[in-house]
Order: sequence, then structure tokens, then C-alpha cells
Amino acid sequence: MEKRPRALVTGGAGFLGSHLCERLLDEGCSVVCMDNLITGSLRNIEHLFGREGFVFVKHDVTNFIHVPGRLDYILHFASPASPIDYLKLPIQTLKVGSLGTHKALGLAKSKGSRFLLASTSEVYGDPLVHPQPESYWGNVHPVGPRGVYDEAKRFAEALTMAYHRHHGVETRIVRIFNTYGPRMRAGDGRVVPTFINQALAGEPLTVFGDGSQTRSFCYVDDLVEGLWRLLNSDYAEPVNIGNPKEMTVLQFAEEIVRLTGSKSKIVFEPLPEDDPKVRQPDITLAKKLLAWEPKVPLDQGLERTIAYFEHA
Ligand code: UDP
Repeated sequence: MEKRPRALVTGGAGFLGSHLCERLLDEGCSVVCMDNLITGSLRNIEHLFGREGFVFVKHDVTNFIHVPGRLDYILHFASPASPIDYLKLPIQTLKVGSLGTHKALGLAKSKGSRFLLASTSEVYGDPLVHPQPESYWGNVHPVGPRGVYDEAKRFAEALTMAYHRHHGVETRIVRIFNTYGPRMRAGDGRVVPTFINQALAGEPLTVFGDGSQTRSFCYVDDLVEGLWRLLNSDYAEPVNIGNPKEMTVLQFAEEIVRLTGSKSKIVFEPLPEDDPKVRQPDITLAKKLLAWEPKVPLDQGLERTIAYFEHA
């Protein structure tokens, strides 16, 4: 019988999912990558098809999930994840966070798998505590336009804890802060691919509001390292994984112009409704628990990301 661990990654053809599939293969796991390809893309995983132990299954995880055989890990990463995507797909976003998480947890229970939920800094909403520790309950506008994502993920966390407490499923919850890197989708509307592609095309960079809102950007390799350590830990409560280096969106636009050597100007557009004014992870817990902290400086991570979009 095959001894190596076997993992299911839902949303495996997405930005984070594809990097995660790759890391799991590198760690000696076999990987079932599942995606309905609504926001994910086969291009993200094309290079994995030749690798031993990798299979792709096209499936919408809001429907009953069947995977024959043993499953040691289930990493539930399926969901639209950019504000533009979840505003375009509000019902699917709610369904995958609720019904999809339910199906994935049900599978974990029946297979005895360890389950990792991809949650988000959006559970903190427009935060009134800064930076955000895991103990903060958040400030979410439940019926606002972003509520479809925020509440779906909050429900997913609650459901995951219920499966842990009530059914004894081994669960992990990661709250992922803004992450960037190769394989983000050019048109996904998030600030990193948008600014980079605008700068490369010599078009104006569209800063929303006055650009004073802050974000803290984590390079994807750092994030995946944190996920791997969390998966292998024995901690069931939520853990923030992100880079605490905070900057304003305007500073970020200036950095992209500088790194691309672009002649693009910066223009200001209206701020989307409920756009969080600040965001910065408190990673005290991850440092202590996982001996993890991000390593890749912003300019290096951005250079790799810019190179990806130059050749995309
Ligand atoms: N943003 C911007 N211009 C854009 C896209 C985004 O100024 O073309 C801003 C957005 O309003 C937010 C920040 O950049 O304040 C990060 O947005 P993103 O969509 O990447 O994700 P969020 O952190 O809001 O979930």
C-alpha cells in the first residue's frame, strides 16, 4: 500500500491552491486537486500534470464530494477571493463558504482526514483594533456588499470549530492576509495584479479613495510555508498568517511605479463600499506556535511577480 500522505486541495487551480498543490507534492504527498474553474485556471497547474501522484478533478464542492481511497489531509481553499469576483458571484461565494465547507468537513469526518480551512483577514471586517490579533471578534457589515465573503468565511470558521468540538475532526484554521505572487489573475481586480498590469501597460494606476487606507502584503512562498507549518501543528483555533509590514495603498502604487520603471501616472477613483481603512496582521501567535515569520522583502517578492506578469 502507498505510504505517502494523500491530500485533497479544493480550489487547487487557484492562485494559492496551485502553490499549495506544488508544495504538497514537494513534501512527498500525492495530491488530488479539485476546482470548478470559475475563478481558477488550468494554466496555474499545467506544470503539475506530469508529476507523480498529481490528479485533477473538475468539481463544484458545493455538491457532494466523493474521492475514492484514503485522504490524510483536506485543504479547503475553494472560493472566489477578490472583492470584484465575490461581488460578481455573491451567491456562489456564500455557497462555497457554507455548503462547500460543509461538504469538505463531511468528507474529512468520513475519511478521518486532518482539515485546514482557508479563512481570511476579512473576518475582522473594517477593524477597530489595529493590528488585528486572533482574539479580535471583528467589525463586519453583514448585509453590505462584502458581507457575502466575510460572513461566508465567518460561518465556515464556526462550522469548522463545530466539527472539531462535536465530531472530533482534527481541524486547522488559517486567517490569510493580503497575499501576492505569480499566478494571480490579471483581471481579478485586486490591487497587486491591477497596479502591476497598469504600470506595465503605461496606463494610469487607479488608486481608490485618497489612497490612505493601509494593507500589509505577504509573498506567496512565505504564506505557503506558514500553511505547511500550521497543518503540521496541533493547534485548532484560528491563526493569522500574513506579513505585518504595513503601507498605504498610495505608497504601494508609488512602489510599483518605481519597480517597473513605468511612466504611468496615479489617478484617484471612488473608494468601494466598506473598504477596510486599515489592515495589518498581529503574528505573535504564528511566531510562537509555528516559529514562522515572513522572509521575503516586498521589493523582491514584487520583482518576481512583475516578471511573471511580463511573461504572462
Ligand atoms: N485598490 C485600489 N485600486 C485598485 C484596486 C484596489 O486602490 O485598482 C485598493 C482597494 O480599495 C483596497 C486595497 O487596494 O483598499 C486592496 O484591495 P484588494 O482588492 O487587493 O483587496 P482587499 O485588501 O480590499 O481585500
